[in-house]
Amino acid sequence: MQVEILGGGPAGLTLAIALKLHEASHRVRVVERGPRGATWGFGVVFSDRALDFLRADAPTLHALLAPRMQSWRDLTIVHDGTRVPIGGNGFASIGRLELLTLLQHEAERLGVTLEFDRALSDVNELGTADLYVAADGVFSASRDARAAAFGTRIDWGRNRFVWYGTTLPFDTLTLTFRQHALGVFCAHHYRYARDRSTFLVEVDEATAERAGVEAMDEAASLALCEQVFAADLHGHRLLSNRSTWRRFPIVHNARFAAGRTVLIGDALRSAHFSIGSGTRLAMEDAIALARALRDEPDVDRALLRYQAEREPPMRKISDAARISLCWYERMGEMMALDPHEFAYGYMTRSGRVDHAEVRRRDPRLAAAYERLHPERFGESSP
Ligand SMILES: Cc1cc2nc3c(=O)[nH]c(=O)nc-3n(C[C@H](O)[C@H](O)[C@H](O)COP(=O)(O)OP(=O)(O)OC[C@H]3O[C@@H](n4cnc5c(N)ncnc54)[C@H](O)[C@@H]3O)c2cc1C
Repeated sequence: MQVEILGGGPAGLTLAIALKLHEASHRVRVVERGPRGATWGFGVVFSDRALDFLRADAPTLHALLAPRMQSWRDLTIVHDGTRVPIGGNGFASIGRLELLTLLQHEAERLGVTLEFDRALSDVNELGTADLYVAADGVFSASRDARAAAFGTRIDWGRNRFVWYGTTLPFDTLTLTFRQHALGVFCAHHYRYARDRSTFLVEVDEATAERAGVEAMDEAASLALCEQVFAADLHGHRLLSNRSTWRRFPIVHNARFAAGRTVLIGDALRSAHFSIGSGTRLAMEDAIALARALRDEPDVDRALLRYQAEREPPMRKISDAARISLCWYERMGEMMALDPHEFAYGYMTRSGRVDHAEVRRRDPRLAAAYERLHPERFGESSP
């Protein structure tokens, strides 16, 4: 089978590897517009549970990636200077460039053809193939060219975010909320290498407008964020990687395939970065598509099976991501809460974690919340 893949991100590379692992005779090419050795962003984080899928479904990839990851158990919420540590979570992280480099080596070892520095406006420009895969990310041109056939819908988050890095290695995954004269600034920050952390800054719409972030040049934006988070950066500088303020696009497609062109990864659906699942979903799509193509020799039927298998779990995570995105849009009003109430609200925001689960993960946080709500957790409560 000849498979042409546009986009050498986690989705495209994982698919190429999975296809070759299933059937060495497949001819697989990945075409990427960026150069080898470069990418956007900094490190990405996975929850413990997110790595389980890799251990179960792609043990070779898990063995390749797990030893290169930073990992830790705790999450810390910093509510305007008050630190609320929350145990029992579990995360692992890796630099995006390191992740892609490992995947590229593995793909080439298996005989995948990788082409860099080649931007195409449609995957179908790659000549005759049995399957065309649009793995070209959230702004997929191949998808947009067939938006009606895929049933594409794109909504836009109201907050603005900018993805920086820093040389300060943080101990835990930390969400720092700072009340500033311009409004509330939130930083999502965590170590992804011994000497590097992601430092992603998010502001709500009103703060973005007051600060005028979209009109700022790179240096002014960096200086503002360094000033807001000076107490958290301990003298370290923020690092930019063509980092600009953006709004988050929420991508949804009713149909995963149009003829022999199929969507995977962010081209198919995006999940807000606050739940740390986009890379995992992209890799899961790839693994599921390769499995469907292995188990179902008829490509059209395999594409239907791919959608049937992926849609239910994907919808669950997409719903949680959407709720999480909305929580961040309301962070300004929630800063008035007590720090423990705020942290509890963060933990339970998407509905996937209830009080019993908070108690299991971090009894101190559950107890603090119960003390704040004696009317609900009186002495008769368990
Ligand atoms: C700020 C931010 C933080 C994030 N943090 C996390 C996190 O902590 N954990 C997590 O799991 N996920 C995170 N994500 C999400 C994650 O980055 C994506 O879900 C993931 O990268 C999707 O993989 P992909 O391969 O589908 O797309 P991408 O990684 O976007 O890869 C698409 C590739 O296609 C290439 N391409 C695009 N157009 C063309 C073209 N026309 N021709 C050729 N090549 C093209 C691009 O150069 C790119 O290399 C974050 C996202 C953002 C925006």
